[in-house]
Amino acid sequence: MNYQEIVDQQRNFFNTNATKNISFRIQELKRLKNVLKQNETLLYQAIYQDFKKSEFETYLTELSIIYHEIDLALVKVKKWAKKKKVSTGLANLPGKSYIIPEPYGTILVIGAWNYPYQLSLCPAIAAIAAGCTVVLKPSEVPSQTSEVMAQLINQNFDPKLFKVVEGSVKETTALLEIRFDKIFFTGSVPVGKIVYQAAAKHLTPVTLELGGKSPAIITKDVNIDMTAKRLVWAKYLNAGQTCIAPDYVLVDATIKDKFLAAIKKYIEKSDYHVDNDNYTQIINEKNLDRLNDLINEDKIFIGGKGNKEERVIPPTVLTDVVYTDKVMQEEIFGPIMPILTFDTIDEAIERVKKFEKPLSFYVFTKNSTTRKRILNEISFGGGAVNDAVMHFTEQTLPFGGVGESGIGTYHGKYGFEAFSHYKSVLQKPFWVELDLKYAPYSSKKLKWLKRLVG
Ligand code: NAD
Repeated sequence: MNYQEIVDQQRNFFNTNATKNISFRIQELKRLKNVLKQNETLLYQAIYQDFKKSEFETYLTELSIIYHEIDLALVKVKKWAKKKKVSTGLANLPGKSYIIPEPYGTILVIGAWNYPYQLSLCPAIAAIAAGCTVVLKPSEVPSQTSEVMAQLINQNFDPKLFKVVEGSVKETTALLEIRFDKIFFTGSVPVGKIVYQAAAKHLTPVTLELGGKSPAIITKDVNIDMTAKRLVWAKYLNAGQTCIAPDYVLVDATIKDKFLAAIKKYIEKSDYHVDNDNYTQIINEKNLDRLNDLINEDKIFIGGKGNKEERVIPPTVLTDVVYTDKVMQEEIFGPIMPILTFDTIDEAIERVKKFEKPLSFYVFTKNSTTRKRILNEISFGGGAVNDAVMHFTEQTLPFGGVGESGIGTYHGKYGFEAFSHYKSVLQKPFWVELDLKYAPYSSKKLKWLKRLVG
């Protein structure tokens, strides 16, 4: 079956109204959870083959997040899908006004490679909860995870509802030619722009989950030890291949040495090294070369380059970094932490603002004035105060970027909203009508109109 036929089949199915039924959505979400639960071993094996991602991190950062999204949708979908009554103005009384959440229709989800399960399946879960049908194109870069998702979904779901299509640029380009009712893309800024342009041809709405350089600012009044502990975890999780990892660290110059000592302590404690099965590989040789190239050997505080055999880069910290260094010119997306210093908060804020608006932002401070000022002055997708990455796990928080880091949000209720059109309706009875708006007009009517409408 070609892509157009898959989409036509899904659209025809959508038009039967079968997906409007909440019990149907619940049944399909339960099916997905069962399929994943029953095949966890396969999922762990595939991701380990792709980039040596451990069972622990796969559960923590992929499967548990997927299960939470399904569980929340199962409990809440009825409420999210409910018609919502709103107030009605004087001019339309005794009418009533309400909003009906309506599924967009047939959706294209395009996934990224770094969290291959979660970034593909969480949007699909939200789309199914909203009553849509889904064509999912996972990233081809981790080939085993792409294959296992195709196998599990295509064997267990009716392709009229949910179909995985594998492929790379050629296949994605062909998919983007087709008219979908919404496109949900996770990936890089340049490809995000390609997707946006393709969507524009059909006026298809998009959610774009993109990337960028997410900073962490550390002021002098922090708990240095706890700051270092949290940052080391957030940076080296998945070997730094996390879109919301703290990309670079701006630390108050007066605490730099103590901070570096604490960072070293926690890197050593984590025991991340080439032979540790819990430390993730760099996804491929291309990225290994790119990352090695960002490591200026004169500036290494700890760590260093990786080799092609193991495809592992140890947790690396670069000191005395300046803004013109190569490592500050692009999103790092690997286990390299550049440390820069600042003398005043004004200076730190000014530097951060010179970059594009980041997907995430982290400030570590005990000073409430500094915290409020930073949160007020710096624009970013989402973030945390005195922590990093963990905001992603809060289903009550919308997740997404702003400016170059993306368009739109998802997770929990926000995911449901991403795949819904909120149809607004005014309903009136026949038995009464104000004559004011009808011709012939008169100055008397205008006087009344001004009084009533304001
Ligand atoms: P990518 O843009 O290279 O690929 C993403 C998807 O687009 C893949 O499925 C790929 O097959 C497809 N693709 C690639 N080139 C294409 C083209 N020319 N035309 C059409 N489709 C194409 O991104 P990636 O390398 O998979 O992921 C890394 C980037 O994604 C980083 O910038 C990272 O910050 C970002 N990211 C963002 C989030 C988020 O939630 N905001 C999450 C993970 C990754």
